[in-house]
Amino acid sequence: MQVIFLGSGAAFSPTAYNASILVDQTLLLDAGAPLCVHLPKVGVPLDRPAAVLISHFHADHCFNLALLIAARHELFPASPPLAILGPRGTEDWLRQLLDLAWGEKFRRAAWEHLALTVQELDEGRGAEVAGYRVRAFRMAHVSTWTCLGYLLEKDGVRLGYTGDSAPCPGLDALVDASNHVIAEMTYAEPGKIHLSRQEVEGLMRRHPAVRFILTHRGSDQPLDGAVLARDFLTLDLPL
Ligand SMILES: [Zn+2]
Repeated sequence: MQVIFLGSGAAFSPTAYNASILVDQTLLLDAGAPLCVHLPKVGVPLDRPAAVLISHFHADHCFNLALLIAARHELFPASPPLAILGPRGTEDWLRQLLDLAWGEKFRRAAWEHLALTVQELDEGRGAEVAGYRVRAFRMAHVSTWTCLGYLLEKDGVRLGYTGDSAPCPGLDALVDASNHVIAEMTYAEPGKIHLSRQEVEGLMRRHPAVRFILTHRGSDQPLDGAVLARDFLTLDLPL
């Protein structure tokens, strides 16, 4: 399984782009990075990803989906279908996002042309998408929306992705089910809605068999025993 970080910074990072990770050129975990620039930069046409998994509705994780959808609609007359997976409310959210970004008429045309499908997941709900087994885990981030982490399984790799989360039982369950995990590490000191360095160290101690890859970085400071993501870092799993 190949992963490329199209963005590895926390929401307001002055040095790194917002969250998006490309898996096997097929599937995107979140859509916060400028995809219309970064996908071509890594040699992937905009019409190649078959699915986008949205962890939650904060802008730094998903607002660039509006540009990816519009570009596919405008530039790729024979674009293959696009599947969107996300928490409860994703279909309404996507409709509002596209209406606000491009207007209702454009949204309707793009939705039909791209054969957009939306699958809303929740804790323990699984799905098959583009050859991957996907399972959702409930994260503790903000109370405004349901926030999810995901487990992707293919060819013996069980890749966890936390999205944004504070420490919570769902986070430990996700890490426990994974053999590699892409975890956020936003804070230097423990805070409220994200993981701190110390909390990631605790997770690593509780799950010694799991390989940790750290993203949504609040700083460039490395952490012993973990891989620190940066924009355009490419990894072939298993590590
Ligand atoms: Zn967030």
